[in-house]
Amino acid sequence: MSTRPAHVPETTASPSLRIVHSGPRLDLRAAERAVGDLLRALGHDPSSEHLVDTPRRVAAAYAELLTPREFSLTTFPNDEGYDELVLARDIPVQSLCEHHLLPFIGVAHVGYLPGERILGLSKLARVVEMFARGLQVQERLTKQIADCLQDHLQPKGVGVVVEAEHLCMSLRGVQARGCRTVTSALHGLLREDSRSRAEFFALSGVPS
Ligand SMILES: [Zn+2]
Repeated sequence: MSTRPAHVPETTASPSLRIVHSGPRLDLRAAERAVGDLLRALGHDPSSEHLVDTPRRVAAAYAELLTPREFSLTTFPNDEGYDELVLARDIPVQSLCEHHLLPFIGVAHVGYLPGERILGLSKLARVVEMFARGLQVQERLTKQIADCLQDHLQPKGVGVVVEAEHLCMSLRGVQARGCRTVTSALHGLLREDSRSRAEFFALSGVPS
């Protein structure tokens, strides 16, 4: 699966990038058969009345969780020269841990210091969702969101914090229920300038 978004400038005058993050090639039928095999291997009878439709449902659920939705990353000229932090807090995150195929769920705080262009605010959440729809580790997810904004928006700085609970940690293994993992990725002034960085973490509600 490609981890870089392919992008197509729609026109040079209207800087709207159609972001297509290519998902995996899915074979739903094969996935259904595999879920049936898994049920059998786990000691269950997939032809029983209770489970007969389960392989189809599980395959469809994974297909949905693994298929990113494409969208246009529309930017606007920063005519007013706004140069303070823009921050979207508590963007919902739900993704699948690639080690256990179990969900991790939490929030992302995504901020940037505008350069020549600004972004439609809902697009911050769309970027998060695009990279969350796949088999992930939280560290990579965090960095992909930050890199994507840095590449396409070219702001003076980008900061991303993801806080998430991993069901593979809370339901099994150490069973650390309620434990949240925090990751961050910073670019530009939010990385290099200690005051900007501290402001970003303070507004995100994360101790720096
Ligand atoms: Zn895991």
